[in-house]
Amino acid sequence: MTRKYRALIVDLDGVIWRGSKPLRDNIKALKLLRGKGVRIIYLSNNATRSRQEYIIRLQKYGLKADLNTVINSAYAAAEYVKEHGGYKVFIVGEAGLFYEASLVGLLPVAMGTEAEYVIVGMDRFVTYSKLAYACRLIKGGAHFIAANYDLTYPVEDGEDPGAGSIVEFLKGCSGREPEIIAGKPNPWILDLALRLNGVRRDEALIVGDRIDTDIMLGALNNVDTLLVLTGVSKPEDIERYGVNPTYIAKNIYEFLVENKELFSVYIAEGFEDSNCRS
Ligand SMILES: [Mg+2]
Repeated sequence: MTRKYRALIVDLDGVIWRGSKPLRDNIKALKLLRGKGVRIIYLSNNATRSRQEYIIRLQKYGLKADLNTVINSAYAAAEYVKEHGGYKVFIVGEAGLFYEASLVGLLPVAMGTEAEYVIVGMDRFVTYSKLAYACRLIKGGAHFIAANYDLTYPVEDGEDPGAGSIVEFLKGCSGREPEIIAGKPNPWILDLALRLNGVRRDEALIVGDRIDTDIMLGALNNVDTLLVLTGVSKPEDIERYGVNPTYIAKNIYEFLVENKELFSVYIAEGFEDSNCRS
């Protein structure tokens, strides 16, 4: 059955921008869809920044967003802890994670202070003593929360260790598994995004550039997916991960031109290319 999509759940890195470079064909298509009433929800695994920072960056490219339509793994992890009654948290992570934790009403504590929860995200300022303290808390019974499990992340000249590598370190020394991995491809962040926007799984299309996170998120949770070739994954990677996107396209704009019937909003009004010059 062909579905009609009311909302797009869009990844950021590799879809909206790559490094400092905006990806114009994708941005153009999203503006067009939003103008036709399709809800655009941005979903990123990056836990180093706050949602507010993304809202400002998206605005620079003419994309409107707010705290309900931008969701990252820092916020998803913080929201999980809040909804499970947590308060004092020890954070291994960067400013975005501290900011989102504070914003939902958690209290990030310093080393040496007791905490019921340890939240782990990407931390480029990680130290041995920070990890040692987090490990003691986890071994002592604190909840072990991972913002995401991305072992690496792309940088200009290759790949560097991501949050998942820090999570692995803490798994090794504590002998415990995280209670939850908040980010993609796990259901928590997806369900949070859908809940905040009043969208059902069968009304949404996940758009991303990575098979192991974006496309896997849809495959594991029965949401249709569009793989765009503007970021890291290539068609030949599909076999490696054994997961098939519902659609593959060079970029969102090309997909839109070929598949306008998938967006029910077009049925009445038709599709006008002249609206979408950016
Ligand atoms: Mg990406």
